[in-house]
Amino acid sequence: MNNWEYSESIESEKIVNIEKKYGNFIDGKFVTPKSKQYIDTISPSTEKILSSISIGNQQDVDYAVASAKEGLKKWSKTNPSERAKYLFKLARLIQERSREFAVLESLDGGKPIKESRDFDLPQVAQNFFYYAGWADKLDIAWGGEEYKPYGVVGQIIPWNFPLLMLSWKVAPALATGNTVVLKPAETTPLTALLFAELCEEVGLPDGVFNLVTGDGSTGSHLVNHKDIKKIAFTGSTGVGKYIQKSLAGRDVGLTLELGGKAANIVYSDAALDEAVEGVVNGIFFNQGHVCCAGSRLLVQEDIEEKFIKKLEKRMQTLNVGNPLDKNTDVGAINSKDQLDKIEKLVNEGVADGGDLFQIECELPKNGFWFKPSLFTSVQANYKIATEEIFGPVLTTLTFRTPEEAVEIANNTEYGLSAGIWTEKGSKILWTADRLEAGVIWANTFNKFDPASPFGGYKESGFGREGGRHGLLSYLKVSS
Ligand code: NAP
Ligand code: MG
Repeated sequence: MNNWEYSESIESEKIVNIEKKYGNFIDGKFVTPKSKQYIDTISPSTEKILSSISIGNQQDVDYAVASAKEGLKKWSKTNPSERAKYLFKLARLIQERSREFAVLESLDGGKPIKESRDFDLPQVAQNFFYYAGWADKLDIAWGGEEYKPYGVVGQIIPWNFPLLMLSWKVAPALATGNTVVLKPAETTPLTALLFAELCEEVGLPDGVFNLVTGDGSTGSHLVNHKDIKKIAFTGSTGVGKYIQKSLAGRDVGLTLELGGKAANIVYSDAALDEAVEGVVNGIFFNQGHVCCAGSRLLVQEDIEEKFIKKLEKRMQTLNVGNPLDKNTDVGAINSKDQLDKIEKLVNEGVADGGDLFQIECELPKNGFWFKPSLFTSVQANYKIATEEIFGPVLTTLTFRTPEEAVEIANNTEYGLSAGIWTEKGSKILWTADRLEAGVIWANTFNKFDPASPFGGYKESGFGREGGRHGLLSYLKVSS
């Protein structure tokens, strides 16, 4: 174990300008909420209040949907190459102001600045560039079939990748000629509010992008609005099921991007040090608040002891702390509620008989924190092996044969992602063919590209975001 201490290298908060209070962004401008209700958004690493945001009610949602309906008249007649120009401009502005966005994302949500700066923001800009490129090629995208936009689209996103999830949804929706009402998560609304400022700056026609902040009730008003033609939801499987029930019997399009419990399979012939890096990245990236996190380590039995030893040693080098410190690997848990959920599941794992390893580190006094954790001696029926923890907690299971690895990997209600580590290409293909997961990484993990579709099987949802297939989430066959 080395004893190197990093000096602090703190990114400045001064580059962001946060208003004391925000309204909604409707009809091309910021407006006072009709609800007159506000809630604080805090920094989860300090518990300091950052700002007050509106809790949109039925009237606010009505106003936003009416504005999107009006905006559609102009947007649907806008030449596709003109639509592309707006998306290109947004992409360029996001790049220009990416440092500001990155600081805001880390402040509001708790993720390390090196991730918001080097992962989230570049991906966000790439998504806008990518879908800008498709806007005037829709007629050739799907083999000449006639497709048309849904119209007014409601989009509801979670708190783990706030601006990235916005980009996954807003860019393809606008490229295909829809107008949008977006509801960000209540704990992380600030980057979406800054994005609304950019929409104003690029002169996006009024009503094309509307933002109503709020909580679950605001999302529910959006889902149940009679003039919404499509709902795109990313969040928990529980809320996804509830939304699907609410929409039953209505002619409303729906895509659901839900939870996951991905297997990261390490065969004994894998390059073990690389696999350790991949497993660490797979679960501790973004504090494990990742739908496709490799949260179930499946390690071949003959290397379990050796691999776990290496893994624990590597985990111990993770820097946990201030998200704005450029050396931080693991930041704050997004909210008190999420921390409570993680603690509850981990306590249950211990009570069930799992062996818990947590790294030795000092946690800041304020804020919400959880030490990077690893469970061994886990039985397949323990809750920690089946339920999404959505935190920095890895669960280990072992297998003897490839057949057994596949059986354990697929023994879950989810099917979002998976990882395979082996030196044999044939084993990668054999295993990948048998895994029920929307995305499968081999000898790497958590790699994303806007050109590559992403989405789940089983209770991880349906529909794809990203790539050419992502266009279909916002197009329907013309009648
Ligand atoms: P969540 O509780 O389901 O919330 C997601 C969004 O839905 C938030 O904006 C939330 O608002 C809103 N909401 C809550 N109740 C609602 C209702 N009844 N009607 C309409 N909207 C409602 O999920 P979360 O805890 O924020 O996010 C974590 C989950 O998202 C995890 O399960 C994760 O796996 C999943 N996720 C999936 C993907 C993917 O691409 N598959 C990507 C990222 C995350 P408030 O936050 O304001 O309550
Ligand atoms: Mg916050």
